[in-house]
Amino acid sequence: MRCQPRDKHQVYIWLKSNQSCLLCDESTGTPQAICTPCESELPWLGDHCLRCALPLAMAGLTCGQCLKRPPAFQQVVAPWAYGFPVDSLVSRFKHQANWPYGRMMAELLSQLLRYRFDEGLPRPDLLLPVPLATRRLRERGFNQSALLARWLSERLHIPEQPHWLLRPLETPTQQGLSAKARQRNLRRAFALAPEAQVHGRHLALVDDVLTTGATAHNLARLLRAGGAARVDVYCLARTPKPEGPR
Ligand SMILES: [Zn+2]
Ligand SMILES: [Zn+2]
Repeated sequence: MRCQPRDKHQVYIWLKSNQSCLLCDESTGTPQAICTPCESELPWLGDHCLRCALPLAMAGLTCGQCLKRPPAFQQVVAPWAYGFPVDSLVSRFKHQANWPYGRMMAELLSQLLRYRFDEGLPRPDLLLPVPLATRRLRERGFNQSALLARWLSERLHIPEQPHWLLRPLETPTQQGLSAKARQRNLRRAFALAPEAQVHGRHLALVDDVLTTGATAHNLARLLRAGGAARVDVYCLARTPKPEGPR
């Protein structure tokens, strides 16, 4: 990660002339790792809940779940719905340590965030990656959310604090569990590091995929309880409602 030559101009020229699309292998003609046609075919998130980014039929609405029980986070920003090919790109990034896919998606997420900041979304003071359970970290060797937070931090010039959120308790895998069961598991799974200074701060959680939002809600609740002024969530993709779109 830290092996780039000093001369940035040379690197730029090299990137410009050698970048081929990660998806179709054609030359992108830009420093981007994805070509314009492939980029436009990604499952860009359409109309969605203003709060949790759940795909909805109309723009400018808050979903029933967020109305009924407002989450502790303020807003989720995600470029894509969790569908093909983003699901397989995320899976290869996470499970096969395919970092170029992760970097490419982080780059596109940072572009979306820059655009949203220009449009008036408040910039957070710090980025905090969602922590991985120790056992998972051992199995995988890296925390994909920590990598995403580092790449976003570099591109957006927002500092990150990768060790403020802790996961002291081993929680069983969340896959295949109902939303209720996930909530129960997660309620006591997280803790704030003793050195964490969240009081009065605007923080953004970074994760790969937002599924039920239970993890983000519990972390945001912990941060708000510690005095955080606002918590947003930045992720690559948002899953649609499991029962179908409507
Ligand atoms: Zn392509
Ligand atoms: Zn919602």
